[in-house]
Amino acid sequence: MDKLSEKLAATTLQEDTDTNISQASNYYETRRGSKTVNFARLEKGLLLFIYIHETTKNILHSETALWDRRLCIHIVKDGNCPKPRDQCHREHNTLYRHSNLCSFWYTHSCTYETKCRYSHDFLMISQYHHYILTNTDNMICKLIRFVRNFAGHYIDTAIQDENDLQELHKEMVVLMVHLVHALSRQRANSIDHLNLFLEATTIKQLIPQDSLLRELEKPYDVPEVFFQSNLNFTTHWYRHGTGKRSVDFTHLSTELITYFNSVFVGFYEGRLKSRGAPAAWT
Ligand SMILES: [Zn+2]
Ligand SMILES: [Zn+2]
Repeated sequence: MDKLSEKLAATTLQEDTDTNISQASNYYETRRGSKTVNFARLEKGLLLFIYIHETTKNILHSETALWDRRLCIHIVKDGNCPKPRDQCHREHNTLYRHSNLCSFWYTHSCTYETKCRYSHDFLMISQYHHYILTNTDNMICKLIRFVRNFAGHYIDTAIQDENDLQELHKEMVVLMVHLVHALSRQRANSIDHLNLFLEATTIKQLIPQDSLLRELEKPYDVPEVFFQSNLNFTTHWYRHGTGKRSVDFTHLSTELITYFNSVFVGFYEGRLKSRGAPAAWT
C-alpha cells in the first residue's frame, strides 16, 4: 500500500469509530432547507459570555496557569525558584506542589512516555485547586475566553467568504449552546435554560428539542482555532472545514460545574429576572 492509500484507510477507520462525535452542522439539519444565521442571533449570548468571563477570569487564573504550562516548574516541584526575580519569566503564583512531576512532560518534551520515573500527571490536584480539576475544565475556560474575545473584537468584514461567515455564525451558536447546557442550572429534559440565556429565535432555528438534547449528550467537535489565545480578528481567521478538537463535556468536574452554576444564576438574578424572565431550574 502506498502512503496515500494508507492514510485514506486510516482516515476511514477513524471516521467509523468517531460517528458518535457531533458537529455544528448536525444541529441545523432540517427538511426545509438551510436557514441563514445572522449576527443578531448571537448577540444575547455574547453579552452573557462577556459577563461570565469577566466574573471568573481572575479567580481561575492561577489554576489555568498550571494546565496551560505557564507556571515556573521550580515553584511547582519545590516551592522555590533559583533564578533571580527578574530572570524567570514563568508565573510563580500557585499553591500547587508536586515534587515528583516530570519537568519534560510539563513542557511536552519527555520522550520516556510510560518508562519515565517521574510523574506524568497532576496528582492530588483537588488538594490545591477548587475549580479546574480536569483538562476538559481547562479547555472550557479557553472556549469561554474565545467567545468573550469574539464579542469584543469580531469584525464580520474580515471574513470575506460568505460560506465561511455562515458556518462561523452556526459554530458560534452551537458552541454557546454547549457551554450554557454544560454549565447552567436546568430542569431535566428541558431546554428552557437555553431559551433563557440565548435568544429563543436562535434556539428555534436548531433541531427540535428531543433531538437537540440527545445530540448534546455526545462529544462535540470544536474548531481548533477557537482555542487560540492570540487570534487576530482583522484577518480572514476562520475557514470552515479546517481542524477540529473533540470536547467531551461529560469529563467536566462537578467542582467546575457547581462554580459556573452559581455564576449563571448571578447573571440571571442581575440581568434577566428584573425583566420578568422566569428561572429555568425551579
Ligand atoms: Zn521561576
Ligand atoms: Zn517524563
